[in-house]
Amino acid sequence: MIEPRKLLIATNNLGKLQEYVLLLDGLPFELTSLAGERITYEVEEAGSSMERNAILKATAYSRRSGLIALADDSGLEVDALGGEPGPFSHRYAGENVSDRQRNDFLLAKLSGVPWEKRGARFRCVIAIAIPRGGVETREGVCEGIIAFDIKGEGGFGYDPIFYLPELDRRMAELTLEEKNEISHRAKAARKVRPILERMAEQRSNG
Ligand code: IMP
Repeated sequence: MIEPRKLLIATNNLGKLQEYVLLLDGLPFELTSLAGERITYEVEEAGSSMERNAILKATAYSRRSGLIALADDSGLEVDALGGEPGPFSHRYAGENVSDRQRNDFLLAKLSGVPWEKRGARFRCVIAIAIPRGGVETREGVCEGIIAFDIKGEGGFGYDPIFYLPELDRRMAELTLEEKNEISHRAKAARKVRPILERMAEQRSNG
């Protein structure tokens, strides 16, 4: 029998947390968060790639908490900006700015760039770490176009400027459930499920 055991969703981003609660539904783990575990320690995202940052966060929080930890590093890659802001998506417009300011900053950077050159993608790398040291990563990508303005109330971050051609809507116009069908995070989370199922099985056998 599989005993209940906690999985730490190692993020302070409430938007991400909400998405993971649905994305990891049904797995034999009790989900907990940094706030739930009263962990205030912040891991510096010192890596130059999303994979490196996801590994740094997952391993540090797993060691601190003694729990299996899931961390993601995610961001927006804009073709007309040579793939920026990428791993620097959160800090691109400076420290302590709002999502609105981040979006305004990016739109200003793309001022004068025509529609056909506004291709972009969200990328998400999830790392799963165990306290005694192992870590695995999986990646998901979602393609779209950076619109000319801000629209929609859902999601977080750059969702209001991210246009999805197949749906003819912005990411921020989708419900949480709809975003979780197609997003970069959803694609990475689908690949992570078997890893967590395997861990749960090993736990119950050992
Ligand atoms: P980090 O992964 O915590 O370093 O943050 C990445 C940043 O990328 C976030 O603060 C958002 O601005 C942006 N980002 C990551 N995932 C999403 C998403 O699903 N929608 C919109 N913006 C996102």
